[in-house]
Amino acid sequence: MHHNTPLISTVVVGLVLAFVFGALVQRVRVSPLVGYLLAGVVMGPFTPGFVADQNIANELAEIGIILLMFGVGLHFSLKDLWSVRAIALPGAVVQISAATVMGWGLGWALGWSTGKGIMFGLALSTASTVVLLRAMQERRLIETERGRIAVGWLIVEDIAMVLTLVLLPALAGLLNGDAGAMADWRALAWPIVITLGKVAAFVVFMLVVGRRVIPWILHYVAHTGSRELFRLAVFAISLGVAFGAATLFDVSFALGAFFAGMILSESELSQRAANETLPLRDAFAVLFFVSVGMLFDPAIIVKEPLPLLATLFIILVGKSLAAFAIVRLFGHPNSTALTISASLAQIGEFSFILVTLGVSLGLMTDRGRDLVLAGAIISIMLNPLWFELLGRFLKDKEPAASGGIKPAGEARPVPREPLPISALSNHVVLVGHGRVGSVVSRALRDAQTPLLVIEDNPGTIERLKQEGVEVITGNAAAPDMLQAANVGAARGLLVAIPDAFEGGQIVAKARAISPSLPIIARAHSEEEIAHLKFHGATSVIMGEMEIARAMLAQIASDAAADTAEPVGSNRPSAA
Ligand code: AMP
Repeated sequence: MHHNTPLISTVVVGLVLAFVFGALVQRVRVSPLVGYLLAGVVMGPFTPGFVADQNIANELAEIGIILLMFGVGLHFSLKDLWSVRAIALPGAVVQISAATVMGWGLGWALGWSTGKGIMFGLALSTASTVVLLRAMQERRLIETERGRIAVGWLIVEDIAMVLTLVLLPALAGLLNGDAGAMADWRALAWPIVITLGKVAAFVVFMLVVGRRVIPWILHYVAHTGSRELFRLAVFAISLGVAFGAATLFDVSFALGAFFAGMILSESELSQRAANETLPLRDAFAVLFFVSVGMLFDPAIIVKEPLPLLATLFIILVGKSLAAFAIVRLFGHPNSTALTISASLAQIGEFSFILVTLGVSLGLMTDRGRDLVLAGAIISIMLNPLWFELLGRFLKDKEPAASGGIKPAGEARPVPREPLPISALSNHVVLVGHGRVGSVVSRALRDAQTPLLVIEDNPGTIERLKQEGVEVITGNAAAPDMLQAANVGAARGLLVAIPDAFEGGQIVAKARAISPSLPIIARAHSEEEIAHLKFHGATSVIMGEMEIARAMLAQIASDAAADTAEPVGSNRPSAA
């Protein structure tokens, strides 16, 4: 093992093991997240064999959090945040308080002091951003009302945690039972004022300066025409703002990145920016789960079964009940209350930061830390299951809420937002409305052929809607999309996107729905043609081949014209 390259070995072993375990658990229809966590356990200090550098893993995980929160910001506007404040604010406060009280109660039963109990409870109170977002994205809930409430709730928790982290050192004396610490209230009030002041200064700075400078930079770079530079600009902005926010304003990385994204969401380049961050974001999110897995000592399950069960009970049941009750109290339906409860029934990165700080301030015992870590990893593992149970529950209770759509090849009932199924029939379904798709669509519309377009670029979608074309928004390879396009009743499917790998997935899904559907796909090489045909394409058009044919036809017709032309014509010719 190369001990002198800890960063490389952590990244490489982390990604390779995550891939292996992710693929293995996927085979048995378990979320790949569990595989990533297992990969972490394997490369952690509590299992034999290779041990990766925990500090490096944690830092890599932070980059994942930054990119994820940046992505959330990109899809989230101030208006959205403001619109959910009535529920998100009290919801988060009540849930944090409930978890803290329950944690304190368990601490009391375990013989800990009040301060240690409160610290333990606080560590159980905040959900993990990464886990929540992954759960929401997988189920296409981010853009729904429930999704907005959950994200708003998370942001409030995030701000509360920023405050807690700053205040803890000041409050440590008090929590440790030093009554004298209470005497000087100014010593307590100051850090609160300063922290709130810094958060406010950051927000004002972003709204006044960031709002003008960031979109300007991106527009400028977009006009240079360099894709590479644009990508770099997006990363520089997301990481730079997060880092700057943390260093200059003591705001968490996550909050800083969220704001950077939110500022950008007002610019029309936002979708492009979001797409640029996707691949790196996914890779770092995987490393986040690996780094969590590394903290887990499986021995705790045998050593402390009852306290662990009680900890899990607080995270899974206690917090869920508190969230459920408050959402229902605010008059939202069961489905909203259950989604929010399930998405928050886990703990993650904030808990790790809190326990580390708690131990250093003497406010957390090693036993408490181990229980929190074990609670985190098990609750993250169980989170997909929790959603599934919720899906079942919703299906039983409110059959309409799950829409009755069962994605092909997917046995697990997951509570996705249902997509309405198109009423069109004998229509053409066109996937992708770019250089190729737009030409096709124009001709089809001129010929009065009924048309449905699936596109994931919001700018294009808006335009098409204005022109009266039926559009389904999103990635055509995602579950339910083709069902919603009613491909079963269509006269044909045209897959006009440049990525043949994704094209193959779309073709396979459509073929599973209809064995006789004519499917025409787009390719750029012989391999891609074979790939698309293998997945069921009726015919595949290779762009480069058509260009070659057109060139040959052009030169042949030019030559024919040349020979037919009288001498002395003014056509340019090679003298
Ligand atoms: P072009 O390569 O110019 O023909 O553009 C391809 C178009 O397809 C772009 O407008 C993309 O937004 C769109 N596109 C690419 N992949 C997908 C997908 N998986 N689902 C829906 N639209 C897509």
